Amino acid sequence: MPKFKVVIVGAGLSGLAFGIALQKYAPDVDFEIYDAASQLSEIGAGVGIQQRTWTIMQELGMEEALLKITEHWEESTYPIVHRKSDQAEGVEVHRMNMERNYAFHRAELQKVFMEKLLPRQVHLSKRLESYAQPEDGTGPIELRFQDGTTATCDYLFGCDGVRSRVRAVMYSQLAERAEAAGKVQEAAELRAMMPPLFSGAVVHRCLIRKDTLPAETLAHSAFNHPGIVLYGGKNKHLITYPISSGRILNVGGGVDFPEKESKPYDGPWTAPVSREDIVKHFKGWEQDVQEVLKYIDGGILWAIHITGRLPTYVDGRVALVGDAAHAMMHHLGSGSGQCYEDAWMLAQFLGNANITKDNAAVALRVYDEIRRPFAQRVADLSVRAAELHHFKGPELAWLTPELSATGTALTQEQLMNVGEETEQVRAWRDHSDLVEENAAAMTRLAEALAAA
Ligand SMILES: Cc1cc2nc3c(=O)[nH]c(=O)nc-3n(C[C@H](O)[C@H](O)[C@H](O)COP(=O)(O)OP(=O)(O)OC[C@H]3O[C@@H](n4cnc5c(N)ncnc54)[C@H](O)[C@@H]3O)c2cc1C
Repeated sequence: MPKFKVVIVGAGLSGLAFGIALQKYAPDVDFEIYDAASQLSEIGAGVGIQQRTWTIMQELGMEEALLKITEHWEESTYPIVHRKSDQAEGVEVHRMNMERNYAFHRAELQKVFMEKLLPRQVHLSKRLESYAQPEDGTGPIELRFQDGTTATCDYLFGCDGVRSRVRAVMYSQLAERAEAAGKVQEAAELRAMMPPLFSGAVVHRCLIRKDTLPAETLAHSAFNHPGIVLYGGKNKHLITYPISSGRILNVGGGVDFPEKESKPYDGPWTAPVSREDIVKHFKGWEQDVQEVLKYIDGGILWAIHITGRLPTYVDGRVALVGDAAHAMMHHLGSGSGQCYEDAWMLAQFLGNANITKDNAAVALRVYDEIRRPFAQRVADLSVRAAELHHFKGPELAWLTPELSATGTALTQEQLMNVGEETEQVRAWRDHSDLVEENAAAMTRLAEALAAA
């Protein structure tokens, strides 16, 4: 007899990881996963997992399957090469001794997750419209889907991404309660957390199949570095790294439109984009960049949206997980890592022997207490990484694209500062121990349960 029933809304990387973790740590918890899509598919682009979160993959028993589809860079063997490239002759800014990194094709990663979840199936074509949880904290939470069907559960988890419907409903309800208590300003602030925010940045995501390239091209430095190359410039960057066990070069071209930041994004959030429309952003950049761009065949444009700085991830028996809670800039490659950390902690909490249907809301509060400040700090570091990659922090506000293109505007020392800080903003991943933090979280849960 299951101790209670959970519904997960959303079967992206967060929802799938949460389901897999529940199967392992909370076999006595019944769960169902619902997703709006008619079939689950990730776009063809790269995604990296670093050593900190790789620990979770190992704990979930995914290592063997994942190693078969990854390009895996051992610590210190292949540094991240960081260049300043928005000039005729690029310069190396820094070589970062990178933590261990595992790079994947998203669709291949998702396939491994779905296979691990089997035989459990995701309920597809189920777009959540709304939910209601009884105010007294008892009785089932009722879910309503867009197709008119309903479902119930004891605990609800919104893994439904940056445009989360669960977040919108949660924050609308929190705002209504604030209004009812006469807190008008607070209600307005809570409502501002409902929609995603446009970051002002777009990314062009492209793949180059290496087996289509001539031998002399493959020998070129832009194609034969086994790790990440980050070509940076004022308000832009191009990043390359191999995926699919080295068969494909992943290429991401980021461009900022600072004047559009935090304004509603005018256009589709993802859309096909032609080669010409990508190449025009990198006119005048160094030769290596031109060499890479020669071989792209268009790509997909992503308008990067982020989540506001939420004052809570939890309301009663409902919690936000993954991008629904903390969609962040992509510059640290840590967004999905933070999703897995949420999922891993929650599943262990719900599976804890002292957790019951009546007290699991305590576990959700401890989840919020620990995970929210952590994920928000990573989001802040991602913003700083974006500033460094794009030579646009407050200290470089004076640097115009024209000045930057001269290649002489920054001193050696200024370049070195950018390079060193770029390494520092990644250091938390190397110099932290997820297993130790996990043990501390379990202790905190025990304290909270004892005090409840
Ligand atoms: C350019 C770019 C590069 C990135 N690179 C990295 C990287 O290298 N490493 C890394 O760790 N992270 C990276 N990230 C971040 C990472 O992609 C995200 O953090 C992660 O994919 C979020 O997963 P999610 O499951 O929370 O959300 P999503 O992937 O958005 O999944 C949400 C799911 O919910 C479903 N859904 C939505 N609304 C509803 C509804 N109303 N009802 C039912 N279902 C619904 C959707 O269909 C979808 O399946 C990158 C992001 C970007 C944009």
